[in-house]
Amino acid sequence: MKNIPMDIRAIDKDKINIANYHTHTKRCMHAQGEDREYVEAAIESGYKILGFSDHSPQISDDGYLSGMRMSPMEFEGYVDSITALAKEYKNDIKIYLGLETEYFPAMFERLLKLIEPYPVDYMIMGQHWLYNQVPETVATKKRTDEQYLKEYVDQIIEGMKTGYFTYLAHPDVANFVGDVSIYKKHMLRLASTLKEMNIPMEINALGYADNRFYPNKYFLEAVKELEADFVIGVDAHNPEMLRDEARRRGCMELAEKYGLKVINKVI
Ligand SMILES: [Zn+2]
Ligand SMILES: [Zn+2]
Repeated sequence: MKNIPMDIRAIDKDKINIANYHTHTKRCMHAQGEDREYVEAAIESGYKILGFSDHSPQISDDGYLSGMRMSPMEFEGYVDSITALAKEYKNDIKIYLGLETEYFPAMFERLLKLIEPYPVDYMIMGQHWLYNQVPETVATKKRTDEQYLKEYVDQIIEGMKTGYFTYLAHPDVANFVGDVSIYKKHMLRLASTLKEMNIPMEINALGYADNRFYPNKYFLEAVKELEADFVIGVDAHNPEMLRDEARRRGCMELAEKYGLKVINKVI
């Protein structure tokens, strides 16, 4: 792992190729399908670039293993599988090896140490918790408390400052249901800071297709004047999600509605 985040703008600056950088595997225990099936679904759907970014392992002090990400023991098998597929299908599609990673301050150094010997191309940040993964601080729980939202945004910014992340997945996954002006203030603070750091944010097609609370219209409203860079991420948890053009088209329509600049081509 190199401490230079992969710049997906540079990979395909003319946006000729259909590209998705947010793809899971069954190792996270809530996605289905073989790795190869994701590759074949992507090729059949016209993708030229497919980034695997399964939920990264985390090494906690007490040996706790989460039920929603691969274990540290599975990491090498993940690397071997994706790099072998990249080689096998290299004439049909460009495959990148990535991770969707939580920035847990207490565990981040250990994670870097684990992945350092391997040819990881990139990490996206998917921050589903505040602090260090204690169950009570899951971001998707409805909250009205500004302090939580403030600290959540602070933690993402702190993580981004490490320089390891290519983009921020679902920037609107904190389920804040309090005062809209407070929500927009912190989301704009997050988005402006990332823009200054040249880090794109995602419009998440899984949230869109499942009618979740994200993509959050108040988030989109808050950032629409900013001229920040956005990436549409399928967040595929099964191969069929890659085949489903409607969800990608829906995200493109959202981007158009709010005047957001999308830097990857998805359809
Ligand atoms: Zn997931
Ligand atoms: Zn994801």
